[in-house]
Amino acid sequence: MKQLTIEKDPQNWDEFWYHEKEVKRLRGFLENDKDKMPYAIVLSGFTGTGKTTAARLFIKALFCENRKAGESQPCGECRTCKSDPRTSTSLNNVTWVQRGQDETLANQFKKALQEANQPPYGMDEDHRHYKVIVFDELQSIPKDRLQDLLFYPEVPTITERSRVIFIFLTMAEENIKEGVFKPLRDRARYFRFRKLSETEIFQYLKKQEPYAPDESLEIIAHYADGSIRGALSALDDCLEVDSHLSVENVAETLYYVSAATRLRIWKMIQEYDYKGLHTFWQQNIYHFDEQKLVIQMMRDLDLAMVKRPTADQLRAHSLLYHHVCTSRKVRVLDTLKLLIGLDLITDETLLTRSPLEQSGYERISTPQPTYA
Ligand SMILES: [Zn+2]
Repeated sequence: MKQLTIEKDPQNWDEFWYHEKEVKRLRGFLENDKDKMPYAIVLSGFTGTGKTTAARLFIKALFCENRKAGESQPCGECRTCKSDPRTSTSLNNVTWVQRGQDETLANQFKKALQEANQPPYGMDEDHRHYKVIVFDELQSIPKDRLQDLLFYPEVPTITERSRVIFIFLTMAEENIKEGVFKPLRDRARYFRFRKLSETEIFQYLKKQEPYAPDESLEIIAHYADGSIRGALSALDDCLEVDSHLSVENVAETLYYVSAATRLRIWKMIQEYDYKGLHTFWQQNIYHFDEQKLVIQMMRDLDLAMVKRPTADQLRAHSLLYHHVCTSRKVRVLDTLKLLIGLDLITDETLLTRSPLEQSGYERISTPQPTYA
């Protein structure tokens, strides 16, 4: 079976999900290419929201063999539209720098630098006469390398008037706004791909699977946590188990936390039932959703209001909170043991000499109770 994440890959802007403003602006660049085409485009946003897909669509449209000047829609039929700009070797004017390629990043950079220095292949008067250089996962690329490329003093062709377009993809936009990226700031056009709401993802899923029970799609939408790609791969997982997407099977496949489980966790936290929590954690240690839930509930819990804990309990409680928040899953078990009282003496080092104390875990601890 073909994966949904591939199958549902939008072939034109109409098939793209939400982000209407961003799509409109990107299409605007294509429609008014002579005056509007920017020197650099930054697409930032949470993983799976569509920034890479938008970049690929933009590139396909830009080089589409059937696109006329003034148009912005890729035809979906030509060789360019059928290829993937990330890996295609037939797109002469596209360089996609990314990790995980056969070629080392250093080599890819060298090539990108050479490419940026050369005019695009093809006819000068062609409205497709551009060269695109994409940097994927910008935050993981060494900054000095990027500086070499972008601000190399002997690269006179990299100017606003050049026909080279840089596209940056990043999950951490703030990284671009400081340090070596500063000069880029005023010259780039920014696009932010927001997390999608559960309702939006639900509606998108409903279009893909109109006959599936609403509740199943709601669970998948919740699981996706704002990411369309996440939703589609979760849908893939669930379809593998049950093509009818029954609520039970979907919940089980995605380790969905039922209302009853929620209540159970909540009670255990409220009642300081660390023994129960310990057992629960052992059984569910790799279930991400439940981990998130414990964090949320601990955050909600006003420790001081429920019970007056001892100083040791308080410290262990904040350690626990810290480990849960930072995904130190095995340490959570250790700390729970502490809280149960099993190792309170022998494991005292954990409480008193924890390097976490220096790293400031106290800052996120629950508020100290005031005794009347
Ligand atoms: Zn085409």
